[in-house]
Amino acid sequence: MNPTFSNLTTSIFEVMSRLAREHQAVNLGQGFPDDPGPEDVRRKAAEAVISGWNQYPPMMGIPELRQAVAAHYAHHHGIGFDPDAEIMITSGATEAIAGALLALLAPGDEVILFQPMYDAYLPLVRRAGGVAKLVRLSPPHWRFDEEMLREAFSPKTKVVLFNNPLNPAGIVYSAEDLDLLARFCAEFDAVALCDEVWEHVVFDNHRHLPLIARAGMRERTVKIGSAGKIFSLTGWKVGFVCAAPALMRVLAKAHQFITFTTPPNLQAAVAYGLGKEDGYFAGTRRAFAASRDRFSQGLSRLGLKVLPCEGTYFLNLDIAPLGESDDVEFCQRLVKERGVAAIPISAFYEEAPVKTVVRFCFAKTDATLDAALDRLGRGL
Ligand code: GLN
Repeated sequence: MNPTFSNLTTSIFEVMSRLAREHQAVNLGQGFPDDPGPEDVRRKAAEAVISGWNQYPPMMGIPELRQAVAAHYAHHHGIGFDPDAEIMITSGATEAIAGALLALLAPGDEVILFQPMYDAYLPLVRRAGGVAKLVRLSPPHWRFDEEMLREAFSPKTKVVLFNNPLNPAGIVYSAEDLDLLARFCAEFDAVALCDEVWEHVVFDNHRHLPLIARAGMRERTVKIGSAGKIFSLTGWKVGFVCAAPALMRVLAKAHQFITFTTPPNLQAAVAYGLGKEDGYFAGTRRAFAASRDRFSQGLSRLGLKVLPCEGTYFLNLDIAPLGESDDVEFCQRLVKERGVAAIPISAFYEEAPVKTVVRFCFAKTDATLDAALDRLGRGL
């Protein structure tokens, strides 16, 4: 069997969710909201299942969704995409990333990855024949600088896989950070593969700035978004890929032989949802920020050290002040003895892991968060 997969362990999200079930724990591990998602969007999907088209939709996605994605990004980010030539719908963002890596990489091409990285990235890069060049980010700021990029980029760099806002760190990159990365992409003629699934989940005064809109990046960026994250419907697996036509033509070739299409009824509902009024998006941000604050204040009241969270569903806890030095062991104890599931950050590193930070998902009801705080309060 192929060693890239036969040597892999089961995804940490699956492992922790299983442990959470076994120990009747409050599951703040795997990132999914308690909220069932907007009812009007779910009703559209239900109607489309009953009265709509249930055969293969067009390979690139239904026209109304491609138009809705273009209108959404024009309105929210001020970027113009041609819905016919520059937008493709995939079965989730992970399919989009896998397809893009298969389409862009030839064996031996180098790919820049920023640790901590989402657990799917590295196996997908390797299986596509890429050679990973890792940039190591560390808490509390999780930022990169010119020297770190200079070390990682080379004439063989083909792709930079960049997640912003960054899961699990919970940070949102600034214009200066993006422009520095853009300068390196241009200098080394690399394509930026941007996983921007958290683009709407940003808080306080932070704004998501898409890398594709920075100077020099329009023709060399693949922008990936996700309806699951925008509408708190993580099981839907409807992703959007936006890229200039020359890139898109090749990305489409990979997609056509992976999933080919994505359920048309879900596409129709997402097309409707993307057109919702600004108040909806602002409201979900406010609700997530309130949950973050509730959980963060609760942890602080317990005397625990919380790291800043600017975006995503995740809040990180520094466990070093507790005298802990092994996040995996800490999370095992937490789920088994305290009944709270979290994710050890070291799972997002391939080399030199940070081992003193654990990630909690706060996209939960007040009752869930309070139950977790109550259990943590009894044990830590
Ligand atoms: N994106 C989710 C997280 O970071 C996990 C998705 C999954 O379970 N594969 O928690």
